Amino acid sequence: MEQFRTLDIVDKSVLLDAGSDARARPQRGAVRVPLWSSGSTGQHLALEWSQTSAQWLGTHARAASLARGIPLRRSSMWFRANARSSVGAGGPAVNRSPQELADEVADTRPQLIGGLPHLLVEVGECLRGRHRPRWVVVGGETTDPAMRADLRRHFGCEPFDTYASIEVGNIAWQCRERDLYHLNHTFVLTEVVDAAGVPVGPGGTGDVVVTGLAHPATPLIRYRQGDRATLADRACRCGSELPALARLDGRVHDWFLVPGGRVAPQRLYLSRHLDEPARIARYRLQQDGSGAVVLTYVTRDGRPLPEPVAERVRSSYEATLPGVPVSLQAVDEIPASPSGKLEQLRSWAVEPMDRRRQAPGAGAVGSGR
Ligand SMILES: [Zn+2]
Repeated sequence: MEQFRTLDIVDKSVLLDAGSDARARPQRGAVRVPLWSSGSTGQHLALEWSQTSAQWLGTHARAASLARGIPLRRSSMWFRANARSSVGAGGPAVNRSPQELADEVADTRPQLIGGLPHLLVEVGECLRGRHRPRWVVVGGETTDPAMRADLRRHFGCEPFDTYASIEVGNIAWQCRERDLYHLNHTFVLTEVVDAAGVPVGPGGTGDVVVTGLAHPATPLIRYRQGDRATLADRACRCGSELPALARLDGRVHDWFLVPGGRVAPQRLYLSRHLDEPARIARYRLQQDGSGAVVLTYVTRDGRPLPEPVAERVRSSYEATLPGVPVSLQAVDEIPASPSGKLEQLRSWAVEPMDRRRQAPGAGAVGSGR
């Protein structure tokens, strides 16, 4: 372990620069699952999962279900950012409106509803109590107390939070007590490191660094996940003393406002509005105090999108944000925010989540990808 910790910590830029070199040479007969990250960090990452590691992921997901008291045989419906951003089975078509999705929930009455909390709340608002699932499982972004309250109001149960990433899958999850985040320590080696890259002790806070233990297709060793977490220094309320996280500070997105309503930020990922997201190196979508939305982007070839393409993107955004003016702006560079994170989906029209999270009494929050 001492020697392991002398290995350099790598981050997403290394994976992006390596391109296909980051993927291991396929073994004969091995089935690969190509995936794209959702672009929630403003950049799209292409990687692969082997079928075996996808099966391991399923095994761990079943173990988490049982620890939550959720039977393996149950009907479920998952709401994800896009069809290829998850190793698990895809959910209902993401380009359908929340109203259509809510109608499907009301018709099919799944026992479990899962996915990105923003998308779930949108569906819940349209569902208006027509169906109450027995279990709600969320992941993919930080869930603050206000979001949990919205989920409870719409679905009538306390959500289970999950912390996962496209790179290594399920990292940590809440058990039936919905207290600490149990680390999936037989699947992913998770470290929490300080600014110098040194692992912190129990109770310490730092950057999440992961090593996939069953991920031969895109091997990742000491990979900085881009989230912050606090290691637990006590047992979970369920009695488990195995390694766990007490708190997560991951991706934070804002609702975008439209006249008379709000729109989940995940419906605004550029990959859902542009046919070839790979031509974009980085982007940021911001809504100002007046409600106007500006898409700022950097292309890989340095040239602005051709006018007809830009126009299609603009009208696609305006269809998702009815009544909101949208403009596009090609730039050479998008600076990171003072926090060092690229805040690529930011609305100044609503109270930023960060401010709410700093409010007195804010409890544990969770995140994922
Ligand atoms: Zn527990």
